[in-house]
Amino acid sequence: SKRAGRNRYRFFLPSMNEGALERLGMEENLRHALARDEFELHFQPKVDTASGAMTGAEVLLRWRQPERGLVPPAEFIPIAEETGLIVDIGAWVLEQACRRVVEWEDRLPAGFRLAVNLSVRQLQGDIDEAVRHALATTGADPARIELELTESMLMEDTERAIGLMDRLSAQGVQLALDDFGTGYSSLYYLRRFPIHRLKIDRSFVSEVPNDRSCAAIVQATIALARSLGLEVIAEGVETTDQRDFLRDAGCPECQGYLFGAPVPGAAFAALLDSRRPQ
Ligand code: C2E
Ligand code: CA
Ligand code: CA
Ligand code: CA
Repeated sequence: SKRAGRNRYRFFLPSMNEGALERLGMEENLRHALARDEFELHFQPKVDTASGAMTGAEVLLRWRQPERGLVPPAEFIPIAEETGLIVDIGAWVLEQACRRVVEWEDRLPAGFRLAVNLSVRQLQGDIDEAVRHALATTGADPARIELELTESMLMEDTERAIGLMDRLSAQGVQLALDDFGTGYSSLYYLRRFPIHRLKIDRSFVSEVPNDRSCAAIVQATIALARSLGLEVIAEGVETTDQRDFLRDAGCPECQGYLFGAPVPGAAFAALLDSRRPQ
């Protein structure tokens, strides 16, 4: 009966809602994290495959929570997306990244780009305005900024996404298609997206050189990028075997633990200094 159901529900309430309560607590903490200044950016180098010279870095968000320490994005970004908090957090990330570009300008190699990940929620809003604002308030050179988008976030409303990407591109920032190969964008759309670069997903990179189909996919992606006039980068490069395969396949740029894990701003600035030509 309904009543028994209610009793049963009450009986199970504490254990059943442990996860939900923890999540609610996290959501509540997340709401205040920006005001409490608990977010920080880490930076992971991107390098020229052949020479190892730094070509840029990816900005990766971290949440330093007093009770829990450093919380990885996989644990809080989904909640930030569901609650819409990611829009304000994402705007903060953009502005901080632009600030770093200005702060580090003297130590940055020619062509160096700082890449910021965007969320689908930011794309649903007026992301081009957020980018314009971040560039204008910091005075950052738009050519130093790259935005990483995923295929799936572009396929939701393709025509609108193409319009947004055109407006972003017109501001002088670069656009990269992240996790390439894991989504389902057709070649037709790939040709229409005003992007500069494909980023080959780690799930393929981690299986080369031994897995034949992953090796074929990686080689085909590099050839596809070439024929479309796009740049290409491989993510998640952990071994010299993977690096050698990518170099031989003609992949100009790499990123991964082999070349450096994401590090806080001060450590990254030191890295920039140590790599600077004398
Ligand atoms: P992603 O954009 O695919 O970022 C790459 C992830 O792979 C990062 O995890 C990075 O630390 C990790 N990684 C880098 N090199 C290697 C490697 O050689 N091996 C392995 N196994 N992993 C590697 P992280 O920092 O935990 O970020 C996870 C995801 O969170 C990102 O995936 C991105 O989707 C999201 N994210 C991070 N920062 C932001 C942000 O500021 N905004 C938004 N919207 N999403 C973000
Ligand atoms: Ca990314
Ligand atoms: Ca990625
Ligand atoms: Ca990935």
